[in-house]
Amino acid sequence: MHKTLLFSINAFCASIVWAQAPAAAPTPTQPSTHSNLSVHWEELTAADFRDAMGRAQGTCLLPFGILEKHGRHLPLGNDLLNVRYVALNAAQQEYAIVFPEYYFGQIFEAKHQPGTVAYSARLQLELLQETTDEMARNGCKKIIIVNGHGGNNSLLPYFAQAQLESPHDYVVYVLGIIRSAQGEPAHKSNPATDMHAGESETSMSMIARPDLVHLDRAPQESGADQARLALPEGLYTGIWWYARFPNHYAGDGAAATRELGEFEAKTWINGIVRAIRAVKANQESLRLQTEFYERSKHPLDTH
Ligand SMILES: [Zn+2]
Repeated sequence: MHKTLLFSINAFCASIVWAQAPAAAPTPTQPSTHSNLSVHWEELTAADFRDAMGRAQGTCLLPFGILEKHGRHLPLGNDLLNVRYVALNAAQQEYAIVFPEYYFGQIFEAKHQPGTVAYSARLQLELLQETTDEMARNGCKKIIIVNGHGGNNSLLPYFAQAQLESPHDYVVYVLGIIRSAQGEPAHKSNPATDMHAGESETSMSMIARPDLVHLDRAPQESGADQARLALPEGLYTGIWWYARFPNHYAGDGAAATRELGEFEAKTWINGIVRAIRAVKANQESLRLQTEFYERSKHPLDTH
Protein backbone atom coordinates (compact mmCIF):
# COMPACT_ATOMS: atom_id res chain seq x y z
CA MET A 1 0.00 0.00 0.00
CA HIS A 2 2.79 2.35 1.00
CA LYS A 3 4.70 1.45 -2.14
CA THR A 4 1.65 1.93 -4.31
CA LEU A 5 0.96 5.30 -2.72
CA LEU A 6 4.58 6.35 -3.18
CA PHE A 7 4.43 5.25 -6.79
CA SER A 8 1.28 7.20 -7.50
CA ILE A 9 2.66 10.31 -5.76
CA ASN A 10 5.81 10.02 -7.85
CA ALA A 11 3.77 9.52 -10.99
CA PHE A 12 1.66 12.55 -10.07
CA CYS A 13 4.77 14.68 -9.51
CA ALA A 14 6.27 13.47 -12.75
CA SER A 15 3.15 14.43 -14.63
CA ILE A 16 3.16 17.91 -13.07
CA VAL A 17 6.81 18.38 -14.03
CA TRP A 18 6.07 17.11 -17.53
CA ALA A 19 3.07 19.36 -17.88
CA GLN A 20 4.87 22.44 -16.61
CA ALA A 21 8.23 22.01 -18.31
CA PRO A 22 7.29 23.35 -21.75
CA ALA A 23 5.64 26.46 -20.27
CA ALA A 24 8.56 27.09 -17.91
CA ALA A 25 11.21 26.73 -20.64
CA PRO A 26 12.59 30.13 -21.65
CA THR A 27 11.48 31.08 -25.15
CA PRO A 28 13.13 34.19 -26.60
CA THR A 29 10.08 34.95 -28.73
CA GLN A 30 6.59 34.56 -27.30
CA PRO A 31 3.57 34.23 -29.60
CA SER A 32 1.65 37.42 -30.24
CA THR A 33 -0.91 38.35 -27.62
CA HIS A 34 -3.44 38.99 -30.41
CA SER A 35 -3.64 35.30 -31.17
CA ASN A 36 -2.45 32.02 -29.79
CA LEU A 37 -1.17 30.90 -33.20
CA SER A 38 2.60 30.56 -33.11
CA VAL A 39 4.58 32.08 -35.98
CA HIS A 40 6.94 29.08 -35.82
CA TRP A 41 6.05 26.51 -38.52
CA GLU A 42 7.33 23.66 -36.32
CA GLU A 43 5.27 24.66 -33.27
CA LEU A 44 1.87 24.56 -35.02
CA THR A 45 -0.35 21.50 -35.05
CA ALA A 46 -1.47 20.30 -38.48
CA ALA A 47 -4.95 21.78 -37.95
CA ASP A 48 -3.57 25.08 -36.60
CA PHE A 49 -1.20 25.20 -39.57
CA ARG A 50 -4.23 25.50 -41.87
CA ASP A 51 -5.60 28.44 -39.81
CA ALA A 52 -2.16 30.03 -39.63
CA MET A 53 -1.76 29.88 -43.41
CA GLY A 54 -5.09 31.68 -43.79
CA ARG A 55 -4.08 34.32 -41.27
CA ALA A 56 -0.71 34.76 -43.02
CA GLN A 57 -2.49 35.09 -46.38
CA GLY A 58 -0.06 32.52 -47.77
CA THR A 59 2.94 34.64 -46.75
CA CYS A 60 5.89 32.78 -45.25
CA LEU A 61 9.39 33.76 -44.18
CA LEU A 62 12.50 31.69 -44.78
CA PRO A 63 15.23 33.20 -42.58
CA PHE A 64 18.48 32.15 -44.19
CA GLY A 65 21.75 31.82 -42.26
CA ILE A 66 24.99 29.87 -42.35
CA LEU A 67 27.54 28.10 -40.12
CA GLU A 68 30.85 29.96 -40.29
CA LYS A 69 33.50 31.54 -38.11
CA HIS A 70 32.62 34.99 -36.75
CA GLY A 71 35.89 36.37 -35.42
CA ARG A 72 37.04 35.06 -32.04
CA HIS A 73 34.03 36.46 -30.22
CA LEU A 74 30.80 35.33 -31.93
CA PRO A 75 29.21 31.89 -32.45
CA LEU A 76 29.32 29.89 -35.69
CA GLY A 77 25.58 30.21 -36.16
CA ASN A 78 25.57 33.96 -35.60
CA ASP A 79 23.88 34.91 -38.89
CA LEU A 80 21.03 32.46 -38.41
CA LEU A 81 20.56 33.43 -34.74
CA ASN A 82 20.36 37.12 -35.66
CA VAL A 83 18.15 36.75 -38.72
CA ARG A 84 15.73 34.47 -36.88
CA TYR A 85 15.54 36.92 -34.00
CA VAL A 86 14.43 39.75 -36.29
CA ALA A 87 12.25 37.57 -38.56
CA LEU A 88 10.33 36.06 -35.62
CA ASN A 89 9.79 39.48 -34.07
CA ALA A 90 8.59 40.92 -37.39
CA ALA A 91 6.21 37.99 -37.99
CA GLN A 92 4.66 38.60 -34.58
CA GLN A 93 3.95 42.20 -35.57
CA GLU A 94 2.64 41.32 -39.04
CA TYR A 95 1.61 37.68 -39.05
CA ALA A 96 3.56 35.31 -41.28
CA ILE A 97 4.67 31.71 -40.85
CA VAL A 98 8.41 31.33 -40.24
CA PHE A 99 10.15 28.25 -41.64
CA PRO A 100 12.49 26.33 -39.26
CA GLU A 101 16.27 26.77 -39.01
CA TYR A 102 17.87 26.93 -42.47
CA TYR A 103 21.63 27.34 -42.88
CA PHE A 104 22.36 25.66 -46.21
CA GLY A 105 23.84 28.62 -48.09
CA GLN A 106 27.07 29.67 -49.79
CA ILE A 107 30.24 29.78 -47.66
CA PHE A 108 33.13 28.28 -49.67
CA GLU A 109 35.39 31.22 -48.73
CA ALA A 110 35.52 30.11 -45.05
CA LYS A 111 36.29 26.41 -45.61
CA HIS A 112 39.76 26.92 -44.07
CA GLN A 113 38.18 27.86 -40.71
CA PRO A 114 36.86 25.39 -38.09
CA GLY A 115 33.13 24.76 -37.93
CA THR A 116 32.24 25.94 -41.43
CA VAL A 117 29.62 23.83 -43.21
CA ALA A 118 29.85 24.41 -46.98
CA TYR A 119 27.42 22.36 -49.07
CA SER A 120 28.11 21.97 -52.80
CA ALA A 121 26.77 24.66 -55.13
CA ARG A 122 24.46 22.07 -56.73
CA LEU A 123 22.98 21.03 -53.39
CA GLN A 124 22.48 24.64 -52.23
CA LEU A 125 20.25 25.32 -55.24
CA GLU A 126 18.46 21.97 -55.20
CA LEU A 127 17.72 22.07 -51.48
CA LEU A 128 16.49 25.65 -51.65
CA GLN A 129 14.26 24.84 -54.64
CA GLU A 130 12.80 21.77 -52.97
CA THR A 131 12.30 23.76 -49.75
CA THR A 132 10.38 26.56 -51.47
CA ASP A 133 8.46 23.98 -53.55
CA GLU A 134 7.41 22.19 -50.35
CA MET A 135 6.53 25.46 -48.64
CA ALA A 136 4.35 26.41 -51.63
CA ARG A 137 2.71 22.97 -51.75
CA ASN A 138 1.63 23.69 -48.17
CA GLY A 139 0.11 27.03 -49.07
CA CYS A 140 3.05 29.48 -48.96
CA LYS A 141 2.37 31.19 -52.29
CA LYS A 142 4.44 34.19 -51.24
CA ILE A 143 7.84 33.29 -49.84
CA ILE A 144 10.19 35.93 -48.48
CA ILE A 145 13.73 34.65 -48.09
CA VAL A 146 15.12 36.84 -45.32
CA ASN A 147 18.86 36.77 -45.79
CA GLY A 148 21.15 36.98 -42.78
CA HIS A 149 24.49 36.13 -44.43
CA GLY A 150 26.52 38.30 -46.80
CA GLY A 151 27.93 35.23 -48.60
CA ASN A 152 24.43 34.57 -49.96
CA ASN A 153 24.21 37.96 -51.65
CA SER A 154 24.85 36.52 -55.12
CA LEU A 155 23.12 33.16 -54.58
CA LEU A 156 19.73 34.48 -53.56
CA PRO A 157 18.97 36.93 -56.40
CA TYR A 158 20.21 34.21 -58.80
CA PHE A 159 17.82 31.72 -57.19
CA ALA A 160 14.93 34.18 -57.44
CA GLN A 161 15.79 34.87 -61.09
CA ALA A 162 15.96 31.13 -61.81
CA GLN A 163 12.29 30.82 -60.80
CA LEU A 164 11.51 32.06 -64.32
CA GLU A 165 13.07 28.92 -65.80
CA SER A 166 9.86 26.92 -65.43
CA PRO A 167 6.33 27.67 -64.18
CA HIS A 168 5.68 28.03 -60.43
CA ASP A 169 2.41 28.82 -58.70
CA TYR A 170 4.24 30.89 -56.08
CA VAL A 171 6.55 33.89 -55.88
CA VAL A 172 9.98 34.06 -54.26
CA TYR A 173 11.02 37.42 -52.83
CA VAL A 174 14.47 38.09 -51.39
CA LEU A 175 15.09 40.58 -48.59
CA GLY A 176 18.68 41.60 -47.93
CA ILE A 177 20.25 42.47 -44.59
CA ILE A 178 18.91 45.82 -43.35
CA ARG A 179 21.19 47.59 -40.90
CA SER A 180 21.60 51.31 -41.27
CA ALA A 181 18.92 53.96 -41.39
CA GLN A 182 18.48 57.64 -40.57
CA GLY A 183 19.13 58.55 -36.97
CA GLU A 184 21.64 55.76 -36.50
CA PRO A 185 24.05 56.15 -33.53
CA ALA A 186 27.60 57.15 -34.54
CA HIS A 187 29.89 54.21 -35.31
CA LYS A 188 33.23 53.97 -33.54
CA SER A 189 34.97 51.95 -36.29
CA ASN A 190 35.45 52.49 -40.04
CA PRO A 191 32.15 51.59 -41.80
CA ALA A 192 34.07 50.69 -45.00
CA THR A 193 35.55 47.55 -43.43
CA ASP A 194 32.76 46.84 -40.91
CA MET A 195 31.61 43.78 -42.86
CA HIS A 196 31.83 40.58 -40.86
CA ALA A 197 31.71 40.14 -37.06
CA GLY A 198 32.61 43.83 -36.79
CA GLU A 199 30.99 46.64 -34.84
CA SER A 200 27.58 46.46 -36.53
CA GLU A 201 27.06 42.71 -36.57
CA THR A 202 28.43 42.26 -33.05
CA SER A 203 26.11 45.02 -31.77
CA MET A 204 23.14 43.17 -33.32
CA SER A 205 24.28 39.91 -31.68
CA MET A 206 24.38 41.70 -28.30
CA ILE A 207 20.61 42.11 -28.69
CA ALA A 208 19.69 38.75 -30.28
CA ARG A 209 21.92 36.49 -28.16
CA PRO A 210 23.99 38.47 -25.62
CA ASP A 211 24.85 35.22 -23.83
CA LEU A 212 26.91 34.09 -26.85
CA VAL A 213 28.95 37.28 -27.33
CA HIS A 214 32.51 37.16 -25.93
CA LEU A 215 33.43 40.81 -26.44
CA ASP A 216 36.70 40.46 -24.49
CA ARG A 217 38.00 38.03 -27.15
CA ALA A 218 37.34 40.35 -30.12
CA PRO A 219 40.83 42.00 -30.05
CA GLN A 220 42.59 38.61 -30.15
CA GLU A 221 42.99 38.83 -33.92
CA SER A 222 42.90 41.44 -36.66
CA GLY A 223 39.83 42.22 -38.72
CA ALA A 224 41.79 44.71 -40.83
CA ASP A 225 41.72 44.70 -44.63
CA GLN A 226 44.97 43.00 -45.74
CA ALA A 227 44.53 44.24 -49.33
CA ARG A 228 46.52 41.40 -50.90
CA LEU A 229 44.88 41.58 -54.32
CA ALA A 230 45.08 44.63 -56.58
CA LEU A 231 42.46 44.39 -59.32
CA PRO A 232 40.71 47.21 -61.14
CA GLU A 233 37.17 48.17 -60.13
CA GLY A 234 34.56 45.89 -61.74
CA LEU A 235 36.89 42.91 -62.20
CA TYR A 236 35.70 40.07 -59.95
CA THR A 237 37.33 36.88 -58.72
CA GLY A 238 36.19 34.50 -56.00
CA ILE A 239 39.31 34.70 -53.82
CA TRP A 240 38.77 38.44 -53.23
CA TRP A 241 37.37 37.97 -49.74
CA TYR A 242 40.14 35.63 -48.56
CA ALA A 243 42.67 38.03 -50.08
CA ARG A 244 41.33 40.87 -47.95
CA PHE A 245 40.19 39.08 -44.78
CA PRO A 246 41.99 35.72 -44.34
CA ASN A 247 40.93 35.55 -40.66
CA HIS A 248 37.32 35.58 -41.88
CA TYR A 249 36.84 38.64 -39.74
CA ALA A 250 36.28 42.14 -41.12
CA GLY A 251 35.96 45.16 -38.87
CA ASP A 252 36.27 45.76 -35.14
CA GLY A 253 33.90 43.73 -32.99
CA ALA A 254 35.27 45.25 -29.77
CA ALA A 255 33.65 48.57 -30.75
CA ALA A 256 30.15 47.05 -30.51
CA THR A 257 27.51 48.56 -28.22
CA ARG A 258 24.01 47.59 -27.14
CA GLU A 259 22.85 51.05 -28.20
CA LEU A 260 23.84 50.43 -31.83
CA GLY A 261 22.45 46.90 -31.61
CA GLU A 262 19.06 48.11 -30.41
CA PHE A 263 18.89 50.57 -33.29
CA GLU A 264 19.93 47.91 -35.82
CA ALA A 265 17.49 45.32 -34.52
CA LYS A 266 14.62 47.81 -34.67
CA THR A 267 15.63 48.93 -38.18
CA TRP A 268 15.84 45.34 -39.45
CA ILE A 269 12.55 44.29 -37.80
CA ASN A 270 10.76 47.33 -39.26
CA GLY A 271 12.19 46.53 -42.69
CA ILE A 272 10.87 42.97 -42.53
CA VAL A 273 7.44 44.15 -41.32
CA ARG A 274 7.30 46.55 -44.30
CA ALA A 275 8.27 43.69 -46.64
CA ILE A 276 5.59 41.33 -45.25
CA ARG A 277 2.92 44.03 -45.68
CA ALA A 278 4.08 44.85 -49.22
CA VAL A 279 4.13 41.17 -50.19
CA LYS A 280 0.66 40.54 -48.76
CA ALA A 281 -0.68 43.47 -50.82
CA ASN A 282 1.23 42.48 -53.95
CA GLN A 283 -0.83 40.47 -56.45
CA GLU A 284 0.93 41.69 -59.59
CA SER A 285 4.07 39.55 -59.25
CA LEU A 286 2.19 36.26 -59.47
CA ARG A 287 -0.11 37.55 -62.19
CA LEU A 288 2.82 38.76 -64.32
CA GLN A 289 4.80 35.60 -63.65
CA THR A 290 1.88 33.47 -64.84
CA GLU A 291 1.45 35.65 -67.94
CA PHE A 292 5.18 35.37 -68.64
CA TYR A 293 5.25 31.56 -68.34
CA GLU A 294 2.33 31.33 -70.73
CA ARG A 295 3.87 33.67 -73.30
CA SER A 296 7.28 31.99 -73.05
CA LYS A 297 5.71 28.80 -74.41
CA HIS A 298 5.21 30.49 -77.83
CA PRO A 299 7.75 33.32 -78.23
CA LEU A 300 6.98 33.73 -81.95
CA ASP A 301 3.58 35.13 -81.00
CA THR A 302 5.26 37.92 -79.02
CA HIS A 303 5.33 41.12 -81.05
ZN1 LIG B 1 27.66 37.07 -39.95
